[in-house]
Amino acid sequence: MFIRRDNSAKVCFSCHTLVSANAKVCHKCQQVNPTLWGYEKSLRRRGPDFGFVQFVIKACAVVYVLTLLIDMEGISHGNGQDLLSPSPFSTLILGSSGAHPMFTVGRWWTVFTAGWLHGGFIHIVFNLFWIYHLGPWVAKLYGAGRLVIIYVASTVTGAALTSAVAQYLPNLPDPWQGAHLTVGASGAVLGLLGAMVSHGQRTRNSDLTYRAGIYSFLLILIGFFSVRGIDNWGHIGGFLGGYLLTQFPGFNSCQPQRLWGALHKAGR
Ligand SMILES: [Zn+2]
Repeated sequence: MFIRRDNSAKVCFSCHTLVSANAKVCHKCQQVNPTLWGYEKSLRRRGPDFGFVQFVIKACAVVYVLTLLIDMEGISHGNGQDLLSPSPFSTLILGSSGAHPMFTVGRWWTVFTAGWLHGGFIHIVFNLFWIYHLGPWVAKLYGAGRLVIIYVASTVTGAALTSAVAQYLPNLPDPWQGAHLTVGASGAVLGLLGAMVSHGQRTRNSDLTYRAGIYSFLLILIGFFSVRGIDNWGHIGGFLGGYLLTQFPGFNSCQPQRLWGALHKAGR
């Protein structure tokens, strides 16, 4: 077993109070494991998001290159969203979601993987641009732990909603159709914006509510009026995931994140 020998005082990641290096519970906010096994300081050096945004950007870039390499002959070299677009075969292998993988093949777990895949060069640059700018902001409002949960949950709700719409409402007109195959982190982009709307409403910050709301509205609207193949229900599902999740008491952005502390108390 590894034991960290650095016994200097550490900071609770939840309430930022000084605690002893081997404290099991923060004396102030009752956060369990307040020093994150002693790694709190090195994680905090990576920014308010504890390096999660950098991780997402690198992971999505690596996975995108992989989808290109798996089927190089299937790469599309068209313009716009078809520029350097991996083949549906390679994205399917690595876990694209939608009604087909979810309901026909039974790969329900693809709701967790589709958000890490992208359908083209413009697609990945556009999504990662938004995540690069919004991720640290949401981390400052909610804390790194809640950022990770909001991010993952909104990719899941986006993929799940569009798959369900495609499966159960198959006869909707074109822009309202769900996706039979879907990839991309745009559900998470909308989820981060949904979390920002929540924070704006909670703190009566009408400027933030308006800005995050209008960005969300425009991003969803663009999908309905621009190129074909935009997953509108993925966007709506992502926004709803981020917005509704942050209505729960554990995601109250006015209180420090105490996710494990809440679990700890509930388990007693
Ligand atoms: Zn604390």
